[in-house]
Formats: sequence, C-alpha cells, structure tokens
Amino acid sequence: MAIWRTHKCNGCEYSFVGSGKPDALMMGPTIPVVCSKCNEIYDRIIESPIDKKLNYSCEECGSKKYTEWDYKKKKCPHCKNGTIEESKGGQVVMAD
Ligand SMILES: [Zn+2]
Ligand SMILES: [Zn+2]
Repeated sequence: MAIWRTHKCNGCEYSFVGSGKPDALMMGPTIPVVCSKCNEIYDRIIESPIDKKLNYSCEECGSKKYTEWDYKKKKCPHCKNGTIEESKGGQVVMAD
C-alpha cells in the first residue's frame, strides 16, 4: 500500500500526484521518474515479481523513455529554478 500526495512546484504551475520517492505498490517497487518526452513525473514500477516483461509507459504521452527523478533535490523538470514541494492539504490516494 502506498499513499500518494499532491506535489506542487513553487516556481511554476506544475503539479503531480505520486509518492515522490521510492515506494512499493502491490505490483512491485516503484521509483519516481521523469518522462523524457513530456517531462511528467510519475511513479514507475521498476520490477515486478508477477510479470517480468513489464511494459510500463507514461500515462500522459505513452512514451517509454524516462530518466530517474532526483527526489532528494526535488528539481522541477518544467522550469529551471522551481522546487517540487509536497502539499500539506493535498490529495491522498491509496494506490493499491
Ligand atoms: Zn516548475
Ligand atoms: Zn510522457
């Protein structure tokens, strides 16, 4: 079980809902990644004990290319100086 929160950039309007850090879903462990095509941050399942041929892609644009998001620096991929912050009153999603 994972709790997903709203994360918001303090430099632009970008926000995403996700764990924002390495986590685990029922399907396997996840890491936050940045889509190479549309710069969307999402939680990507890196390996699955059930399905070894995992075919995961960006929900926004369908691209399978990505880079790992530096969740410690929390840099916004959409603007140069923004930092992504977890919003306190944000949405909590039970992703199970
Ligand atoms: Zn930004
Ligand atoms: Zn994308």
